Amino acid sequence: MDLQLKDKVVLVTAASRGLGAASARRFAEEGARVAISARDPNRIAETASAIAKDTNAQVTPIVGDVTKPDDADRMVQAVIDRWGRIDVLIVNAGGPPAGLFKDAKWEQWEAAAQLVLLSAVRLCQAAIPHMLNNDPPDRGSIVAITSYAARQPIEGLAISNSLKISVVGLMKSLANEYAAQGIRANSIAPGWTLTNRVKDIFNNRSQRNGTSFDQEAAKVTAQIPIGRIADPDEFADALVWLASPRASYVTGIILPVDGGITQSYL
Ligand code: NAD
Repeated sequence: MDLQLKDKVVLVTAASRGLGAASARRFAEEGARVAISARDPNRIAETASAIAKDTNAQVTPIVGDVTKPDDADRMVQAVIDRWGRIDVLIVNAGGPPAGLFKDAKWEQWEAAAQLVLLSAVRLCQAAIPHMLNNDPPDRGSIVAITSYAARQPIEGLAISNSLKISVVGLMKSLANEYAAQGIRANSIAPGWTLTNRVKDIFNNRSQRNGTSFDQEAAKVTAQIPIGRIADPDEFADALVWLASPRASYVTGIILPVDGGITQSYL
């Protein structure tokens, strides 16, 4: 299937590694022009040049912190300055700290709200006016990377459980408000996918529990009906379809890419 992404202009935030980087690479493979952002100048430049070299696509690194509203504006403006348009916005950020409600400090809640929800709000505020300049009927598409925690709370992730669902509310609101103007907005909900973040989680748990990395991975795997942890490329395959014009009648959804771990019907 041709995803009709050739020459589309895509911004993927928080994309020097992990799910963001895998998604950016997939867009580049489809012939899109891709901007990727993260805080570390060296890491984002390395990721951009590796993707460009492997795919021959135009890939632009942008240095920026999604928690800073001015940086979010600047990321979108850098895309407009380079290519004069934006077709796809992938809203991504690092995950908030793990922990129980009783241990989470007020400052951590405030920082996490900035990281997870307010960064998404600001990026959408910056990108949508430019998308509205695109020709109808397909003026643009927004996908927020959330988590299966948006449907089903994960033990020991009180902050994430509370905030990921707020981003789903934002995407659903945008879907309703902008559908008639040709902009789609969706959420995608990864399950356990082997990125550095997940490796860090397993390492932390193994230190806390006096177990090995493999034992911690096995405990998680036992909860997944498909029986394994995902590869980031499997997640990216689903994301590029959802963001692409080939998902033209899909808006306001949460797409689980979780090996069946989410037990909720809706
Ligand atoms: P990761 O740690 O592998 O990558 C995170 C990326 O975000 C890195 O490139 C990092 O530099 C960047 N980043 C972090 N904070 C940033 C900031 N303030 N500004 C700009 N860039 C920033 O993480 P990941 O596994 O790819 O996770 C991405 C998102 O997906 C997170 O929100 C996470 O909670 C969610 N998620 C991941 C999984 C999984 O299994 N990997 C499962 C559910 C949800």
